[in-house]
Amino acid sequence: MRNRKAFRVPSKRTELEIADLKPPYLEGEALAEAARCLYCHDAPCTKACPTEIDVAGFVRKVSTGNLKGAAKTIFQANAFGYSCARVCPVEVLCEGACVLSLQYKPPVSIGRLQRHATEPFLGEDIMGKASPKKTGRKVACIGAGPASITCAVRLVRVGHEVVIFEKRKIPGGLNTWGIAPYKLYADEALIEAEWLLSLGIELKTGVEVGKDVSIQSLLEKYDAIFLGGGLGQDSFLGIPGEKGPGVFGAIELIERMKTGSSLKLDGVESAAVIGGGNTAIDIARELRYLGLTDVSILYRRTEMEMPGYAHELSAARSAGVRFYEKTVPLRVLRDGEKVTGLVVARAEKARAVEGTERDFPTQMVVLAIGQAGERELLSRLLGVELDSDGCVIVDEATGRTGNPKIFAGGDCVNGGKEVVNAVAEGNRAAAVIDEMLRGGK
Ligand SMILES: Cc1cc2nc3c(=O)[nH]c(=O)nc-3n(C[C@H](O)[C@H](O)[C@H](O)COP(=O)(O)OP(=O)(O)OC[C@H]3O[C@@H](n4cnc5c(N)ncnc54)[C@H](O)[C@@H]3O)c2cc1C
Repeated sequence: MRNRKAFRVPSKRTELEIADLKPPYLEGEALAEAARCLYCHDAPCTKACPTEIDVAGFVRKVSTGNLKGAAKTIFQANAFGYSCARVCPVEVLCEGACVLSLQYKPPVSIGRLQRHATEPFLGEDIMGKASPKKTGRKVACIGAGPASITCAVRLVRVGHEVVIFEKRKIPGGLNTWGIAPYKLYADEALIEAEWLLSLGIELKTGVEVGKDVSIQSLLEKYDAIFLGGGLGQDSFLGIPGEKGPGVFGAIELIERMKTGSSLKLDGVESAAVIGGGNTAIDIARELRYLGLTDVSILYRRTEMEMPGYAHELSAARSAGVRFYEKTVPLRVLRDGEKVTGLVVARAEKARAVEGTERDFPTQMVVLAIGQAGERELLSRLLGVELDSDGCVIVDEATGRTGNPKIFAGGDCVNGGKEVVNAVAEGNRAAAVIDEMLRGGK
């Protein structure tokens, strides 16, 4: 299934050195796992899914060998049903809600069953019939991440014309270049994104809205705009010694690993990752799997306060990653260009305590302290409001911004959640845009 179509990533790239940690089921394994489902009438698993996939419904179809029916059920609720099968934090969503846990049994492996059901049907005519009637109404989507692609798929299927503007050369957003390789490789993500785009969406890659095409021209040419521009680039700390070789933004590094030809880490054996979110945990695990012997996460607050998932941190620890809580970096130490370590201090309430400074030897520093830039710039250009956390303000029920023609969803609205949330918010906006374009609200 690798590298099938137009958007390619190099066939020799660093992410492929990391194994898929949840490989596909064999048919017998899937049947046995599906048979464990209790088909609860109140379906807590479905309620826990932001896209409300009918989990019991698709699992029943898997159990009877009706994989195509199962795939239909999944994709109709969630256009990224394949990626979500592999990248969703199922531990805190559907599988976390599985009632088998109340009987001290492992939950049904819903994610792996979803992969089993969807993988064979990527690229097939499985979404059901699209409306043959064109409405003559046009929508522009900004960004080709899961939020925009979902919104666009829903709209083209009911007869609207949709153009997606994407500043990068390949589509899929962070689902293509951000996800840990042990969950999903870039070429696999691209297959799903390309298939969805082939359902009638026009994609303009290498076009940055606000630079290559003006907001004004979009507002004039299109009946509605969906903003799915994500969050932006890695943030930096602004500490001495930070600029220069050996200090990386986590997302920049992950993107190079996933879509560049190779990441040269020759001779580097240790890394200090700064941050307490899932991105910090991901990159720390990835570096361990790539063979670095000494990888640490440094977080300024306590473990209990970490925004990253406890199950992810526990997996990182099992992979040999060390975790230092209440630790802040103050300065990057270098010998010439080469990073030799950090000066760190103990932190109370995320602030360095005077007199507690010490050296922390490391050959590489990775910053995973958040993303910024894009949504602020785009929102300013579009004239839509941001809240105090920098998230685009939308009406919760509709995804509509203060401008009735402009909708938004995904990371730029929720501040950075999961692919499944971006999909749910793309679905939400599409339903209201469709209604609006047909003369409703
Ligand atoms: C390192 C990392 C790991 C993650 N791992 C997981 C995971 O395991 N599971 C999970 O569910 N979620 C994960 N996520 C989160 C998930 O990837 C995001 O929530 C999801 O991709 C958000 O989708 P989006 O469409 O809102 O934005 P994005 O995916 O960020 O897409 C936005 C798109 O807009 C484009 N764009 C921005 N500005 C412009 C402009 N001016 N003009 C044109 N195009 C523009 C960008 O290039 C990008 O393609 C991870 C995130 C990160 C950072």
